[in-house]
Amino acid sequence: MATPLLRGTLRLWGGRGAPCLPLASRCYHSGGEERLETCSAKKLTDIGTRRIFSLKHDIFRESVRKFFQEEVIPYHAEWEKAGEVSRELWEKAGKQGLLGINIADRHGGIGGDLYSSAIVWEEQAYSNCTGPGFSLHSDIVMPYIANYGSEEQMKRFIPEMVAGKCIGAIAMTEPEAGSDLQGIRTNAKKDGSDWILNGSKVFVSNGWLCDVVIVVAITNREAHSSAHGISLFLVENGMKGFIKGRKLDKIGLKAQDTTEFFFEDVRLPAGALLGEENKGFYYLMQEIPQERLIISEIAVSASEFMFEETRDYVKQRKAFGKTVADLQTVQHKLAELKTSICVARAFVDSCLQLHRAKHLDLATAAMAKYWASDVQNRVAYDCLQLHGGWGYMWEYPIAKAYVDARIQTIYGGTNEIMKELIARKIIHDQ
Ligand SMILES: Cc1cc2nc3c(=O)[nH]c(=O)nc-3n(C[C@H](O)[C@H](O)[C@H](O)COP(=O)(O)OP(=O)(O)OC[C@H]3O[C@@H](n4cnc5c(N)ncnc54)[C@H](O)[C@@H]3O)c2cc1C
Repeated sequence: MATPLLRGTLRLWGGRGAPCLPLASRCYHSGGEERLETCSAKKLTDIGTRRIFSLKHDIFRESVRKFFQEEVIPYHAEWEKAGEVSRELWEKAGKQGLLGINIADRHGGIGGDLYSSAIVWEEQAYSNCTGPGFSLHSDIVMPYIANYGSEEQMKRFIPEMVAGKCIGAIAMTEPEAGSDLQGIRTNAKKDGSDWILNGSKVFVSNGWLCDVVIVVAITNREAHSSAHGISLFLVENGMKGFIKGRKLDKIGLKAQDTTEFFFEDVRLPAGALLGEENKGFYYLMQEIPQERLIISEIAVSASEFMFEETRDYVKQRKAFGKTVADLQTVQHKLAELKTSICVARAFVDSCLQLHRAKHLDLATAAMAKYWASDVQNRVAYDCLQLHGGWGYMWEYPIAKAYVDARIQTIYGGTNEIMKELIARKIIHDQ
């Protein structure tokens, strides 16, 4: 592929040529079978841990960490005020080979493995910067195009998305329908070979900046269940009648451009239909485990970040003539937090393995999403508490991590819906 890091990365994945990055200054643990799990590592965010990864992944991770440190962290406060990240960042991420990693190269993607994509999700969580919607773009939106799109759609969108020049979003939720997707009203009606799209969507992540959005719409009201009458469409920015509303004012994810959309008689060519007519719900069900796995991965990684921030804080903060970390109640709290994070990490890593082998089912992905996002919120609560009043100040990273954690139990399907899915499988399996 086109960029230096990408070429280097592919070389590493392919096992050919010399590593493209300096080997100095890494905190590697041992390789191969002897890699430590996070529970035994010095820090939960150390490079070189976890059996699912290899030395090649570590080298890639180091470059991703550097990218977030240099290209994201210094600008994030500015983007929080703007309510969006810069387009320039997207193109930089494209140049670094951070977008579309797990999309096959025959489809225009980078052709890397799932674990390398996961490294980008994790490193973004470690940077505590939730603005860039990279995981949504690369690992939620792009797979729909790669898995169900026509050759023409793949050629048109995927290379540009990999380059960060075309930003992707997906619009399912409506003002009156979130958990119950079958209750959506946005619809597309045939007009010759074209479609006419009408309706509205809300809470669209990457919505303000996006150039292309997958819109979920009803195409057959007569279907015996609404799930059989839903289709997906690729709607492009600038199409007549496609109106972006305001950037929504959220309590967290301040630099993430979450938006509402209105569709007023948008004329879509036949080529805008993604996959087959009325198969949309089926496609959503196929892709949703990966979306929930991403949320659970980010949840555990954000917890690891918060734990390390808090460990550093209590070790230097003084109270009653000693450090806060010297208090036994604080030590026990840290022990509880570390245990629950490491247990969640073990489960989510096993889900990553399952997903790589294409065996992650809906109910198991729901367990990961529900469990890890609940852990993240408990960790956020306790870590902020351990910072005292300073934890409530925006200038402290834990404050941002606390508000950003809150959405994780809601989007991607609420945790109540996750329990529904888990329970359904329990009952059916008997
Ligand atoms: C910041 C943000 C980003 C988002 N990004 C996107 C995006 O990019 N694309 C997109 O399409 N959507 C997105 N969403 C929408 C998100 O997925 C929905 O908000 C979520 O699925 C819940 O839907 P709702 O808000 O309509 O809540 P509702 O469905 O109205 O639920 C309200 C409450 O009722 C509970 N409830 C509902 N049904 C049941 C049930 N059967 N059993 C038990 N409890 C139930 C819910 O758990 C919840 O507690 C985003 C939302 C936010 C806030």
